[in-house]
Amino acid sequence: MKGILANPITCFLTIRAEFPVSRIMLLPVFLMLLVCLPEARAADDTKTKIVLIAGQPSHPSGQHEFNAGCILLARALNEQSSLPVHVTVVHNGWPNDESVFENAKAVVIYSDGNDRHPTNGHEEKVDELAASGVGIMCMHYAVEVPPGDRGNYFKRWIGGHYEGGFSCNPHWTAPLAPNSDHPIANGVPGFPANDEWYYNMRWADPKTATDVLTSTPTREKINRYIHWTPAGEKELGNRQTLMWAVQRKDGGRGVGFTGGHWHRNWAIDDFRRVVLNAMIWTAGMEVPEGGVKSEPITEAQLNENLDEKRKMEHISLPSDADLNQPAAEPVEYRWPGKKP
Ligand SMILES: [Zn+2]
Repeated sequence: MKGILANPITCFLTIRAEFPVSRIMLLPVFLMLLVCLPEARAADDTKTKIVLIAGQPSHPSGQHEFNAGCILLARALNEQSSLPVHVTVVHNGWPNDESVFENAKAVVIYSDGNDRHPTNGHEEKVDELAASGVGIMCMHYAVEVPPGDRGNYFKRWIGGHYEGGFSCNPHWTAPLAPNSDHPIANGVPGFPANDEWYYNMRWADPKTATDVLTSTPTREKINRYIHWTPAGEKELGNRQTLMWAVQRKDGGRGVGFTGGHWHRNWAIDDFRRVVLNAMIWTAGMEVPEGGVKSEPITEAQLNENLDEKRKMEHISLPSDADLNQPAAEPVEYRWPGKKP
């Protein structure tokens, strides 16, 4: 048999001799292929396309893991949600080939902001996509751009943005309250998470954003200050918007989400669910009543695809210790570009 297999022609003839296959028997197989192939292609075309842009590596290991985080989110939607959606991940910033945006219903950006924002210098392209009804969603540092032209684009696309010197970004444990009137909150109960929850966004005037997740920062809840502003301090004790949604006049939708600093938080089921819900809502889809389904994330999966850093951290699953960190000592006002 070995000798026969070595020669494909002999092998085929031998198999034919052993299992004679008539042309009539092959006909249904041929017809089935003819019917199934275009159908398979059509089914793929009917899936809603989302382009997920992961920013370039930035912070120490385990923080701002845009590439690994986007892989987890794409896997959940593509393989676990059972929804007619397909996510294409673009790694390390703006795509070299903009044809990736063809037929996309949403562009979701998880990256650094300001000069390192993937849309920096590509505002016209994003504006063209938004004007044609494509949804835009920005996560974590990707909600931060300077005021002026770039800030105005963000007010139009997603209803607002983080503004240096006005907004602030402490790490704090937020008991998150979902707005149950909004479909993005489907299947999402209130839940706590410790993150670098930016707050006090600069909104479009008049305000277009609808709250999706809110929480109230206090001194006791803040375990680390990064940039601290008078405007942010004034908002202590007031309910803040940590995820919001806009329905734009051009028919498209926009979402901002200020969490996403710690990679481990993707393993919090409700944290992940509200972001997956937001992604499909931004793409114009209906959010299932119980929210988007996805499988729990294991510690091993949390440690996959991390950006290469000089010192690699092993990432543990989120725990109560994250939520119960001691309050940080208050700090002086500080932010990049602050005059002494
Ligand atoms: Zn961060």
